[in-house]
Formats: sequence, structure tokens, C-alpha cells
Amino acid sequence: MRVLIVEDEPTLGRQLRATLEGAGYAVDLATDGEDGHFLGSTESYDAIVLDLGLPEIDGLTVLDRWRKEDIDVPVLVLTARDSWSDKVAGLDAGADDYLAKPFQTEELIARLRALIRRASGNASSELVAGDVRLDTRSGKVSLAAEPVKLTAQEYKLLSYLMHHKGKVVSRTELIEHIYDQDFDRDSNTIEVFVTRIRKKLGAEVITTIRGLGYSLEDPEERRE
Ligand code: CA
Repeated sequence: MRVLIVEDEPTLGRQLRATLEGAGYAVDLATDGEDGHFLGSTESYDAIVLDLGLPEIDGLTVLDRWRKEDIDVPVLVLTARDSWSDKVAGLDAGADDYLAKPFQTEELIARLRALIRRASGNASSELVAGDVRLDTRSGKVSLAAEPVKLTAQEYKLLSYLMHHKGKVVSRTELIEHIYDQDFDRDSNTIEVFVTRIRKKLGAEVITTIRGLGYSLEDPEERRE
């Protein structure tokens, strides 16, 4: 899962990026509205954290432009403390949630998790496919109730596939959603991660769809 942060306060921006990376997200950071708008329009994100008070282009305008461009990624806006008019304006412009500054980063992460889950149609914070369970809160993965240790990249890849269970996900889509923009993206590494995940969770957990990509399905649904 990949998140864009648009925040002009350097300390807060860096802190948010570090916290979200620690929580298992690929993160890009834009420090003004123009950069933020560009990245949100051209890159693929699973959620965006958007400060409203931004240099170059203000956050509400950025959000309004994205929505007019049919970019429907979930957006959480950061508003000034107690500014109810900011909250209303943000929601009117197409925000999915808001958080007033100052906030606890734990709350931001919890809200982002919920936004990403809802956008992919998952009601529960625990994602299940057969014997494989992925807890989006703790970042823990288990196979038949036994904990399984995954590297950060393996977790990102599995998490993306589990959020999109039953769908065919192309290699390009995986690359776009598990790496930030500064990462040296090599599509061969996706195959390597898939192989490692299969070794840890069973060969049948991820199906290769020749020429199209990968799919993760529930074993019961696969048999039908
Ligand atoms: Ca600001």
C-alpha cells in the first residue's frame, strides 16, 4: 500500500513519513500544493494525507482538481485546530475523512487503514484467505494460526494482494503500490518476492495468471 503525504511543515512531514513507513507503507512526501497535485495526478496511491494550508496551491484547490480529474483515491485532510469551516469545506471538496491538528500519529494511521480497507471493500481489519491471515493493525501474518515472518517488501506485496483478493493484479500495478517514487524499481524483484511468499505461505497462495499478473484467492472460492 502506497501513501502520498502533502504537508509543508518539514518536521511534521518527515515525522509522518517515518511513522507510515514504519507501519509498512510506501510513502511519498510533497511539500507544496503544486508538487502534491502533480504526484497525486500522475502516480498511483492507495490513500493521500493532504494538509489544507499549503504554499503554491492550497489543499482545497488541490483536492477539487483531483476530483475533477476523476482521481478517486481516498483523501484524509489535515485541518487547523477547531476550524469547523475547514472540515466542512474539505468534506464538500471530496475528502473522505479529516483530522484536526495537532493529532496523534496512531489515530492518523488507524484512519488511513480504515480508508484503504473501505476503498478496497474490506470491512474487517483482519484480511483472510484460506489459512492465511493478515492483521492490518499489527502488521502480523499467520498461516494456520502459526506466525510467519515476512520482510517489509514481502508484507507490502502480500497486503496489496490480500486487499484485492480475487482480482488479477498486474506486475506494474504491484510495483506502483509497493514502492515509493525514489525506489529503484525493478519488475524482476516482484517475481522474487512472490517466490519467497510462496515458500513461506504455500505455493498455492498466489496464482500466476500468465501474461496478466497475479491473483490471490480463497481456496474455497478457487475450487468452485
Ligand atoms: Ca500547512
